[in-house]
Amino acid sequence: MTERTIHALGEAYRRGDTTPTAVTEAYLARIEKFDGHVGAYLTVTREPALRAAAAADARHRARAPLGPLDGVPIALKDVLCTKGIRTTCGSKILESFVPPYDATVVARLAAAGAVVLGKTNMDEFAMGSSTEHSAFKPTRNPWDLARVPGGSSGGSAVAVAAHLAAGAFGTDTGGSIRQPAAFCGTVGLKPTYGRVSRYGLVAFASSLDQIGPFAKNVRDAALLLQAIAGHDPHDATSVAAPVPDYAAALDGRVHGLRAGIPREYFAEGVDPEIARAVRAAIETLRGLGVATEEVSLPTTGYALAAYYLIAPAEASSNLARYDGVKYGLRVPGGKDLIEMSSRTRAAGFGAEVKRRVMLGTYALSAGYSEAYYGRAQKVRTLVRRDFETAFARVDLLLAPTTPNVAFKHGEKEDPLAMYLNDALTIPVNLAGLPGLSVRCGFTAAGLPIGLQLIGKPFDEATLLRVADAYERATTWLAREPALP
Ligand code: GLN
Repeated sequence: MTERTIHALGEAYRRGDTTPTAVTEAYLARIEKFDGHVGAYLTVTREPALRAAAAADARHRARAPLGPLDGVPIALKDVLCTKGIRTTCGSKILESFVPPYDATVVARLAAAGAVVLGKTNMDEFAMGSSTEHSAFKPTRNPWDLARVPGGSSGGSAVAVAAHLAAGAFGTDTGGSIRQPAAFCGTVGLKPTYGRVSRYGLVAFASSLDQIGPFAKNVRDAALLLQAIAGHDPHDATSVAAPVPDYAAALDGRVHGLRAGIPREYFAEGVDPEIARAVRAAIETLRGLGVATEEVSLPTTGYALAAYYLIAPAEASSNLARYDGVKYGLRVPGGKDLIEMSSRTRAAGFGAEVKRRVMLGTYALSAGYSEAYYGRAQKVRTLVRRDFETAFARVDLLLAPTTPNVAFKHGEKEDPLAMYLNDALTIPVNLAGLPGLSVRCGFTAAGLPIGLQLIGKPFDEATLLRVADAYERATTWLAREPALP
């Protein structure tokens, strides 16, 4: 039951073959049995999940479901505020923080009838690429428990890959949906900046953060995006552009589309096994009628450095609110406010978060901000222009999602080695574009490889259409990870 897609679950509910309660119980039992091995969840919300499932049962019995997500069990990254349910951001500083309201995404999912199974593990404040920087526990990759699931949304990726949820949500600031999706072999979609409301998302880097889905297949990703996309008066950065019918875009019609292959995304440093699998995927798409041409995004090599000024700068400002006064942890005993605050932050934040706060504060400090933050913003403009130039010729770009597959726990101790994981995802965030990762093969060692599709602003539909056509033309989804 837990291996079924959201689409298949909906049909089973409609036929009366099973009920949301039966499926929710199956997921809770599976979480009980396997989550000890992979550590996808920080909090399992058993009672509220069963209550939501019972309400969905009644609607299905009355033949009046709220839509395709009614009674579908999902998981939420623990950075999305859930009313009355602890929201930790993977940090000691928010270990006992219980939000007084739901994020817009959470409220929309509830209105669609989705059943929340729990909150998933993540790198602290979404800073990381391995979920090893969670203050609570590491998450393990179901394809090989010695390896990381990627990050920062590692728990959500694993929840979907190991069938501990039918779908899940994460956030992507520099790759945190697409990279763990690639490492775990799920579909992961980062929507266009502005497509989805961030109201109630705990902010990391506000000019980059986006919320998006993880799914077992592309069709499910379309359904999950549909539920959360669209303008929200609570988030001034959400855009009022119309939201298309994403499921309707999955018509297999890719003939005549033009795809650009960015030369810089196959450069040195990309694992040859990945480059080979991605090139084979491109050939498959050509066979379906997609025309391809090589394009160049010459600023690609500068994107990572720009990101590691812009993202920490914004983070240092966003994280200033964790001062022991209002949210979460307070370490008492300081002689004044400053001492209380600095003791709280010293005890509450982990090493990576402190590193980012220091980098960001430095980059913004008087006398340096033009040399660092200001220049990074200029590079960001150039990165965006590269994409604009390419998109004048092509409808989408095809590339690897990551330069390497899932690595071993503890393998990347050096922060720079960790940062390099996101070299192929970060430019997309800097430009605010949509990006999708879909499984396109396995290494000889049996680890999943991700194909990245990058689109024009607000053109998620084309990415879904092409990824769906690819998925249906191949058999990669037949493989499942073997859990102990
Ligand atoms: N790994 C990147 C970082 O550490 C991106 C994280 C993310 O997308 N949230 O900043």
